[in-house]
Amino acid sequence: MNRIVVLGAGESGVGAAILAKAKGLPVFVSDMGQIKDEYKALLMNHAIDFEEGGHTFERLKNTDLIIKSPGIPETAPIIRQLQEYHASREPRTENREPISVISEIEFAARYTKAKMICITGSNGKTTTTSLIYDMLSRAGLDVGLAGNIGNSLALQVAQHDREYYVIELSSFQLDNMYDFRADIAILMNITPDHLDRYEHNFQNYVNAKFRITRNQTPDEAFIYWSEDPVINREIERIRPKATLYPFGQNKHNVAYIDDSNLVVAAPVAVEPLRVPIEQLSLQGMHNRLNSMAASLAAQILNIRNDVIRESLTTFAGVPHRLQYVTTVNHIRFINDSKATNVNSCWYALESMTTPTVLILGGKDKGNDYSEIDALVREKCHTLVFMGLHNEKLHEHFDSFAQPLTANHSPLTIIDTDNLHDAVRSAYEAARPGDTVLLSPCCASFDLFHNYEERGDLFMNEVRKL
Ligand code: ADP
Repeated sequence: MNRIVVLGAGESGVGAAILAKAKGLPVFVSDMGQIKDEYKALLMNHAIDFEEGGHTFERLKNTDLIIKSPGIPETAPIIRQLQEYHASREPRTENREPISVISEIEFAARYTKAKMICITGSNGKTTTTSLIYDMLSRAGLDVGLAGNIGNSLALQVAQHDREYYVIELSSFQLDNMYDFRADIAILMNITPDHLDRYEHNFQNYVNAKFRITRNQTPDEAFIYWSEDPVINREIERIRPKATLYPFGQNKHNVAYIDDSNLVVAAPVAVEPLRVPIEQLSLQGMHNRLNSMAASLAAQILNIRNDVIRESLTTFAGVPHRLQYVTTVNHIRFINDSKATNVNSCWYALESMTTPTVLILGGKDKGNDYSEIDALVREKCHTLVFMGLHNEKLHEHFDSFAQPLTANHSPLTIIDTDNLHDAVRSAYEAARPGDTVLLSPCCASFDLFHNYEERGDLFMNEVRKL
C-alpha cells in the first residue's frame, strides 16, 4: 500500500497524520523547516515517521495521496516534482490524477458523519465562526471548533469526534477540497487578498472562495452577503445548487436591518428574531453582518431564538479584532492587529466615532490603499506608518499632507519602523477624545511572527504609556 505523505507538520498536518495512523493507514510526515517541539512529541507518541529541515524526494515518491498544509503553495518544488514523477509513470486520466493533493479538512471529512458549518470570506471569518460556535455551545450541541481557528479537524475526528463542527476555511484550504460538502456554507465577502498566491488574478481567488458551495444540493444551505457585488456576480454565473440565505442591510434579505433592529427570519425559523442593534455586543456595521450570518446558521440548525439572542448580546468578541485596550489621558486605544488587508481597515475606520490616529503598515500583499482614501480623509488627522518598507504608503498618502481643497485639512504623516516609536508618536499626535487605532492593512511578518504578537506587543506598549 502506498503511504500517505503529509507536507507540513503544523496543527493541521500533525492532526491529519494522527488520523491516518488511527485508521491504520501508512503515513509519513515531511517538513521543510524545524518542527515545533509539541508537534514532534505528538508524532513520536503516535509512532509516526517524519523528517524535518527539508523534503527527501526518495522518501516521498511512493505516494498517491499528499495532504498539504495550507501554508504550502501548490507550486512548491516538492509538489511539482512528485506530480511530474507520477505523471511520467502513470498518465493522468479524465477522472483521476496520478497523485492527489488534498487539504486536511478534505481528509478528515472522509471519517466523520458530523454536520459541517463552514465559514469563509476575505474578512469576518474568525468573528463569525466564534459567534456560531458560541451559539451552538450555548444550545448544548456536541460541537467542535476547527479549521484556521482552533484545533485540527482531523485530530478531533481521530480523538473525540463530534456531531457538529464549525470550521473556518481560508481560500488556501478550499483550494484543495474536492468531495467535501458543507451542510451550511457561509461566504462573508470577497475583496482582493492573498493575490500573491493566486497569480495576481482576482478571479482565481474568487473561484477558491466559491469552492465552499461545491457538492452542495438544495438540502444544504448557502448563507452569503447579498450586497457584495463580487458574490452576486458569481452567483449569477455559477448558480449554486444549495438553498440560498442572503443577508444584508436591505429588507429583501432573510436577515436584515429594520428600524434599528437586526431581524433574522430564515424560513425554517418558527418566528423572526429581532434584536435592537444597540444591544448587540459586537458593534460596527461589519459586525452586524457577522451577527446576521451567524444567527441564520443557528436558525437553520433549529436553535431557539432566545439562545441566539443571548449569544448576540453577551458574546465577548475575539482578541485583536477592534479590541479595546485602554484609555490614557482621554485617548482611547484600539487593537485591530488582525486587519491584515485594506478592506478590514475600511470597516475599522467606518466604525470610528471620534477623530482618529491610524497606525498602519507592514508586509504589503499587493494592496490598493485608495479603498480607504475617503475614510482616512473623514476620520483621521494623523497617519503613523510602521514598517520596514513604508515606501508604498508614502507614495499613496504623502499627497494627503498637502491641503487639496478648502474642505480638507492636511493630514500629519509620521514615519516609524518599530512599534515602540509608532505608539509613542501616535500618542503624542492624539488629542483628548481621540482614538488611536492600530489597523495595519498589512501582514505582520516584516517585524513580527504573526498578527497576535503584533497585537500583544501593541497592547504592552500602550499600557506602558
Ligand atoms: P478573518 O478571520 O476573516 O480575518 P476576523 O473576524 O478575524 O476576520 O476580522 C478581521 C478584521 O476584519 C477585523 O479586525 C475587522 O476590522 C474586519 N472585519 C470583521 N468582520 C468583517 C466583515 N464582515 N466585513 C469586513 N470586514 C470585517
